[in-house]
Amino acid sequence: MADQTDVIVIGSGIGGLCCGGLLARGGREVVVLEAHSKPGGAAHGFGKTYHFESGPSLWSGLGRWPSSNPLAQILRALGQSLEVVSYRDWDVIFPEGHLQIGVGNDAFSAVVQNLRGPEAVAEWQQFMTVLQPIAAAANALPLLALRPGADVMAQVLQRGGQLLPHMAAMRHLGGAFGPLVDRHLKDPFLRNWVDLLCFLISGLPMDGTNAAAMATLFGEWFEPDACLDFPKGGSKAVVAALVRGMEANGGELRLRSRVRELLMDGDRATGVVLENGEQIHARHVVSNADIWSTLELMPEGHAQRWRRKRESTPACRSFLHLHLGFDAKGLDDLPIHTVWVGDWERGINAERNAAVISIPSVLDPAMAPPGRHVLHAYTPANEPWELWEGLERDSPAYLKQREERCSVFWRVLEQMIPDIRERCDVVMEGTPLTHRRFLNVHNGSYGPALPASDGLFPGVTTPVKGLWMCGSSTFPGIGIPPVAASGALVAHDILGRRAQKDLLHELGI
Ligand SMILES: Cc1cc2nc3c(=O)[nH]c(=O)nc-3n(C[C@H](O)[C@H](O)[C@H](O)COP(=O)(O)OP(=O)(O)OC[C@H]3O[C@@H](n4cnc5c(N)ncnc54)[C@H](O)[C@@H]3O)c2cc1C
Repeated sequence: MADQTDVIVIGSGIGGLCCGGLLARGGREVVVLEAHSKPGGAAHGFGKTYHFESGPSLWSGLGRWPSSNPLAQILRALGQSLEVVSYRDWDVIFPEGHLQIGVGNDAFSAVVQNLRGPEAVAEWQQFMTVLQPIAAAANALPLLALRPGADVMAQVLQRGGQLLPHMAAMRHLGGAFGPLVDRHLKDPFLRNWVDLLCFLISGLPMDGTNAAAMATLFGEWFEPDACLDFPKGGSKAVVAALVRGMEANGGELRLRSRVRELLMDGDRATGVVLENGEQIHARHVVSNADIWSTLELMPEGHAQRWRRKRESTPACRSFLHLHLGFDAKGLDDLPIHTVWVGDWERGINAERNAAVISIPSVLDPAMAPPGRHVLHAYTPANEPWELWEGLERDSPAYLKQREERCSVFWRVLEQMIPDIRERCDVVMEGTPLTHRRFLNVHNGSYGPALPASDGLFPGVTTPVKGLWMCGSSTFPGIGIPPVAASGALVAHDILGRRAQKDLLHELGI
């Protein structure tokens, strides 16, 4: 390939692919350089007979149009559609018992009625009424309509008439969700439930989770026809659609191409050096790697103040993983997801106190061979990196600790499927070291632990000329919809205001 291009994107996470796709669509020559042999970053799929998922299990807003999900908007802009299986129910194993909690207000209210009685139901309904205008305000200002770097308030004023009815609710959008919950929810079960959802979304309890993100989630989940969407083929299918959309517009994805260093000319980023020594020059460089990894690529002596500030970004904890392939015989009613919490008193972010279990083959049998299921379980961003950092992979001490720490999954799974161990023909346990190795993230972290109470995530521009960032280290934050939006924000900045306006017009948002 040529050693000169318009834009280099470092990393093929969802943020990087959304950015690359929109830039290619806008006529730029784009090369996405990915260290791993598979694209998708945290959202990659692997395996040939069983189709294993590395990360996300909860997807929404992909199966219908219009959609407020930035990923759905970008896929549409790239002319790509996804086949999804919609569903409403999932299970929880809480200290209160094993329950089915559906998406949607009525299903959830029925659970609350049974567990906590009519007063708690009334409290919840009142909370939903409070959230409605906040969700409407968040919807009125789509993330793809924002301009990077510009004052959000100024942009609100620019959208003028459209946003005036939402002005009162707008003040909540930039802050944390916790104070809203404190003001309106007293029932311990409702508070624990909200705290759990916050943690699953942001890696932080409700005091640190952004109010706009949560209001949007509740706005969507509690609509009368609300559902979740599992993309057929899993994360791999989503990633393949983004890659197809980018390549159809002339963009290029290069796998097994780890960037070793940024090339600088004075105070400007001008390209990258790959691990094999190859140099590629570009007018624009976008890093989809996390903030700590991005700083490691920068030669010393540039943007020192920014660098020092961002180096000290606190990190969310890491993950334990379990991947299984197992005999499905006689297991007709398995839920797609089960979320387990051991003890509310320990706090939602306590180690090995929460796990998410997904069995995607329940909805998409093609994810596993006939008569079998594929399972991914993880402890969400609550595994301390410090327990693992000194250990050598495959050493006896590592293997022993892995077995001990991953026993949490088996204890929960045996409550669901007592003979699960005998049914398995594939068992893979993963640790923060595995997570770092395959996802290429600093210390196996979920992303920056930046509480919403301290402000918004850092924007996509950097003080280094020619260098942008997208993905979970940038505004609006962690999770599939936010990282997709961050990729679009970078593309807008590079392509210009006119192109952004045209895109919004075409999408009707
Ligand atoms: C277990 C788990 C479950 C999750 N569940 C959900 C969920 O249910 N719903 C949801 O919305 N979100 C979920 N998330 C969060 C979501 O998946 C991530 O926030 C999102 O995918 C991160 O995307 P990103 O654009 O930041 O890039 P990343 O996924 O971090 O990808 C960055 C890419 O850059 C590459 N890279 C790094 N350094 C270099 C280099 N030097 N050279 C070349 N390439 C490099 C990496 O290999 C990687 O492919 C989950 C995450 C995990 C880990």
